[in-house]
Amino acid sequence: MITPRFPAFILLAGSSLLLFSACDKALFAEDSAETEVAADACPSLTAHLAEMDATRQEKNMRLLEYFSPAEIADIQTNTCLSKAPLETGHGLDERASGLKGRFWTPGATIRVRFLNGSTTLQQKVFACAQEWGNYANVHFSKVTSGASEVRILFGEDGHWSYIGTDNSSIDACDETMGLQLTDQTSNTEIRRVALHEFGHVLGLRHEHQQPLSSIPWKTSAVYAYYAQQDWTQEEVNQQVLNKNTTESSQYTNFDASSIMEYPVSATLTTNGYSIGWNTQLSSADKSFVSLMYSSNRMRIRHAATGYNSNITFLLAGIYHTLKPGESLSVPALTSANALAIWEQATSGAWSWDDGYAPVYGKNYKIVRVGSTNDLTIQVD
Ligand SMILES: [Zn+2]
Repeated sequence: MITPRFPAFILLAGSSLLLFSACDKALFAEDSAETEVAADACPSLTAHLAEMDATRQEKNMRLLEYFSPAEIADIQTNTCLSKAPLETGHGLDERASGLKGRFWTPGATIRVRFLNGSTTLQQKVFACAQEWGNYANVHFSKVTSGASEVRILFGEDGHWSYIGTDNSSIDACDETMGLQLTDQTSNTEIRRVALHEFGHVLGLRHEHQQPLSSIPWKTSAVYAYYAQQDWTQEEVNQQVLNKNTTESSQYTNFDASSIMEYPVSATLTTNGYSIGWNTQLSSADKSFVSLMYSSNRMRIRHAATGYNSNITFLLAGIYHTLKPGESLSVPALTSANALAIWEQATSGAWSWDDGYAPVYGKNYKIVRVGSTNDLTIQVD
């Protein structure tokens, strides 16, 4: 049970806060029924940090029986835990949930509050958040009191963050991001970590788990590697090996240079494949958030009666998957949109049915051609 820690208000909301199901849900649109009530003062930050320190020491004592201090330090700076708010009804499986439904409304303001750390360190981290804002149509606002969507605590073991709008469902007295950064950390490392964690804040998940990732993992080596930071095989599956389902994700082709990609050592793959340290936003990172937070959108729904499978389509370089009956507001280009549908037409082979040129601002539906599995789009 997590107890409140710093003065704030509690958002009283029904299940609407916890059930984001479409990518265009307004940040606060469903929160109109919220009532702000004064909360008791949260427990002291000092006590919380002391508790964390005791936990860390206990864990490190255990790990030191098996690994050297250098090995432990290496892996702790090497990884990031993306968290799901388990207390709010998301099951463990939700840790593998994708991007869909976790994006903020285009134009949203995301308030960021630092709970500790020097002003210099805070400014360095905040500047990295704003770097994302150069591409994504969201605004980060640094606040020193009151309500905030993102609450950052320095001094944690490793780095972690909740994903996208999940941040809004976290107890207002709890941190939503932990950073193992200090005034002694190099600027390059601060930038790498902060860009990655704020990528999570924008709704991005780890690139190596996206549906089209094809890293040839050597599973036993991966388990052994992450055991150095006390991860169980289940945690390794959730954070590294499992791929996100298509229906819970919105994604481009795999981008090994993404800031959301872990470094991958050749010792962890079956054929020597490796990925180095990504320290800046890739061109795909920039274009992806630019599109996902674009206000130029079209609504597309799965209306293929009698077709009980998901439908994946590709629009403006982004893959989206609709469950039967689902309707999604998706970003589009202002002109020359190209849309393709992944389908198993009459021949029996799966292929892209392309050549569609939908126009943003309109609504479309995907339907069957007659009673076949040949799919097509129509204006809705
Ligand atoms: Zn991460």
